[in-house]
Formats: sequence, C-alpha cells, structure tokens
Amino acid sequence: MKKRTFIKLCTAAATMPPELTSFASPEKLTNWAGNIEYSTENVASANSVAAIQDFVRRHSSLKVLGTRHCFNRIADSKQQLLTTDFSGQQAIIDSAAKTITVGSGIRYGTIAPPLEAKGFALHNLASLPHISVAGAISTGTHGSGAKNGNLATAVSAIELVIAAGDIVSLSRKNNPAIFSGAVVNLGALGVITKVTLNAQPTYQVAQTVYEHLPLDSLKQHFDEILSAAYSVSLFTDWRSQRINEVWLKHKIDSAKQTAKQPPEFYGATRATKNLHPIAEISAENCTEQMGVPGPWYDRLPHFKMGFTPSAGKELQTEYFVPRHQALDAILAVERLHERVSPHLMITEIRTIAADDLWMSPAYKRDSVAIHFTWKPEWPEVSKLLPIIERELAPFNPRPHWGKLFTMSFAQLRASYEKLSEFVALAKKFDPDGKFRNDFLNANIFGGAS
Ligand SMILES: Cc1cc2nc3c(=O)[nH]c(=O)nc-3n(C[C@H](O)[C@H](O)[C@H](O)COP(=O)(O)OP(=O)(O)OC[C@H]3O[C@@H](n4cnc5c(N)ncnc54)[C@H](O)[C@@H]3O)c2cc1C
Repeated sequence: MKKRTFIKLCTAAATMPPELTSFASPEKLTNWAGNIEYSTENVASANSVAAIQDFVRRHSSLKVLGTRHCFNRIADSKQQLLTTDFSGQQAIIDSAAKTITVGSGIRYGTIAPPLEAKGFALHNLASLPHISVAGAISTGTHGSGAKNGNLATAVSAIELVIAAGDIVSLSRKNNPAIFSGAVVNLGALGVITKVTLNAQPTYQVAQTVYEHLPLDSLKQHFDEILSAAYSVSLFTDWRSQRINEVWLKHKIDSAKQTAKQPPEFYGATRATKNLHPIAEISAENCTEQMGVPGPWYDRLPHFKMGFTPSAGKELQTEYFVPRHQALDAILAVERLHERVSPHLMITEIRTIAADDLWMSPAYKRDSVAIHFTWKPEWPEVSKLLPIIERELAPFNPRPHWGKLFTMSFAQLRASYEKLSEFVALAKKFDPDGKFRNDFLNANIFGGAS
C-alpha cells in the first residue's frame, strides 16, 4: 500500500478490539505492480491470533493479503481483505532444531539478518526479499538451483486459522497425510498465522555475471550450464540467439573454494561491473556481483531489500516445464521471439528441484521455469500468453500461481494430479468457501462458486 494512501485509510472502528484495525479505503488498493485494483475497499489488519479468529468468525467471505506482489487476482476479494501484522513479535530461532518460527505477514528480508546473526541461513530465496513468507509459500515461490526446492520446501510446520475460527497446527512430522497439501495452499485453506522454516548453518555466496552466452552453447551444454553453481539464472530478451546474462551464485562453504571465476564461461565473458538483469537499468538496486562474497541473504536475491526490485511497472508470467524437456521448451519459446520480444523486458530461466507439495508447480518434477517480465501492455500480452501456452503444451507446463496466465481449468487439472485431494482438504477446512474467490473458483474449484 502506498504510505500516503495507508495514512488516509486508517480510521480505526470504535467497536474493534485494539489488535484489529479496520478501514475503508477512499481509493481502491492495488497490487505492487499496479495492474490489479482489488475489488473491495474494506481492508482490516490484525496483529494477534485471537483477533484473526474473531475476524474470521464474523465474516462470511475474505482473502488475506501478504505484500501484494502477485500479478493476478489470487489474493482478491469482493467483500473483505485482511492483512496480518506480527511485526511486534520476535521470530523464534531454535538453534538445536535448526528452525525459525515467524508470524505470517513478515518478509524474508526482515527475518534473514537475525537468522544470519545466530549463525543460520535458509536454503534459498526468491529474486526479491520484499515478499512475505506466507504469501511466498502459498504460491510456490522459488529461487534457482538444480538441487534447491522452492521456498515452501523449507516449511516444517504451519499454523492456520480455518473458516470456523479454530486454530489448526500442522507439521511435516505429525501430519504427513495432509501437510504436503497445506503448504502451497493458494490462500484457500485459511489465514496462516505462523510458519516454521528449516534453517541450515550460514554460508557465504559469491555472485559472478557473464554476458552474451551463445544460444548454441546453451544447446550443447544445457545441463552443465544450469548446474554450474548453487543457483543459476539465465536472462535473455530472445533478440539475438543468445543469453544476455548468466548469473552464477556460488556457495562459498569451504576455505579452499575461491570466489574468483574464470573470465570465460561457455563462450560468455565475465562482466566488468555489476549489472541489472535488464541491462539498460542501473545495477544500484541489485545485490553485489563481481565475485565479492557476502551473506546468503544479500546474494541469493537479485534485488536488495530497501530498493525497488525488477523494473517496477511491469507484468510477469512464468511456466514450469520438466527439466528433461526444458531445452526443447526454451527453443519453442525462442521460435516466437519476433512476437514476444517487442513486449518483453526480460526472460529469466531458472531450475527448481522436485518436491512433494501437492500444488507446487515443481510437484514430483525437477523443473525449469521460463519467466517473462513484460512491459505493462496487457492487451498485447494477453494475446501472447495463449500462443506461448500452446507452444509449451507438449511439455505440460504449469503456470506460476502468482503470475499471469490464461490456461484453462481442464489444463490445470490435467497437470496437477493432487488437485482433487487439495479441493477435498480445502472443503474440510473451509466447507462454505469463505476463503474462495473468483480466481480460485475458476482455476481450482472448476467454476464452482
Ligand atoms: C518484482 C517481483 C519479483 C518476483 N520474483 C519472484 C521470484 O523470484 N520467484 C517467484 O517464484 N516469484 C516471484 N515473484 C512472485 C511473488 O513471489 C509471488 O507472487 C508471492 O506469492 C508474493 O508474495 P506476497 O507476500 O506478496 O503475497 P500476496 O500477493 O499478497 O498473496 C499471495 C497469496 O498468498 C495468500 N496469502 C498471503 N498471506 C497469507 C496468509 N497470512 N494466510 C493465508 N494466505 C495468505 C494470498 O491470499 C494469495 O493467495 C515476484 C514478484 C514480483 C513483484
């Protein structure tokens, strides 16, 4: 929310308990990118589990907002929006169990430095640290790395307030039958209040960027290139048969390892200064490169906390394909370059390890994600998406739940073998559809309202 707007909105209702603030917005709230205006002006904020329970019991339809970084209407509500604010509560770091337990609205960028200070790290982060833990795990948000699962794979326990207002605590250890269905939950199961994440001993990462990788090199050395570092990102505008930038994030976990990388990488040349993924934009907002080691949380994301990530005014789309078919899928997109490039800022290609989370786009599939940062030109982009989806259809693509896509319910159902179990779980926690919205009805519940 823009600060100016937020201050204007904040008229606390007298009947509310002190930990619950409700406000009606004179302007409609938008998502981060500004392409979505949420469908209600009713926004409340709760900062205790009791207030959330009370709120959920008193409302028949609501959606929870994280940091509003999704590009589609997955978080939208026509009736009521709720944000959770546990910023007054300390994260609990359990050094023996190697876990961190956080309140749901908190951002990765906020929890990372204290975790690091205690000698711990998370296994991975997305391109930006600005997003909330609850919002990220709910949509299967990911970073990169052939052996790295998405961010939700670090979750070992989760607490939700379900539709009846009751608290449900689930852990991988105690609730194996449904835990895998509850983590990437698309906001459909209830209000997440607490999340426990597995941590590991802290580590340093050094980031090296190479420019101008010939597409032919990628064709010949696809697996080697995508596994050349702990996390690898390829950026291309598809314009000239090349990958514009290769970002290698090397884990520096032994004194023997050197951060300095060779000047050449499969025909690409080492950059001589920090770069933004979109070369025309200043690298000021990007994490340090040039092989300079730094803490995991200041290298795994491409963008620094406190600075605008990516381009700002943009749209995003992403499709996950099985890793063993990824090169063919990438070449299928490349054949569309004349149509795609004019509306594109940049494409990013990343790897995600397979997981067991029912609604994860990497469910049981080692995956490669082909991402598009579009110019804010929805009329044109909306015509392109079905074309890209048609070309990717032979690879059974799964769209990112938080980004823009046009695939049908039938296509989604065909690619998510656990979808009916997920629907059953949602109906158990939320029998009357309190947490459903148009997005979920169309894409998950098959048109049922
Ligand atoms: C610039 C930019 C870069 C991005 N980079 C990446 C990337 O590198 N990798 C990637 O995978 N994605 C990326 N994304 C997408 C982003 O990570 C996802 O859209 C993510 O879900 C956003 O989290 P959020 O906190 O903003 O959630 P929101 O957009 O606010 O909500 C997302 C979903 O989570 C639900 N939710 C949020 N909080 C709760 C809660 N407490 N209880 C229950 N449900 C809740 C919402 O109802 C909604 O369904 C990027 C987005 C942007 C804008």
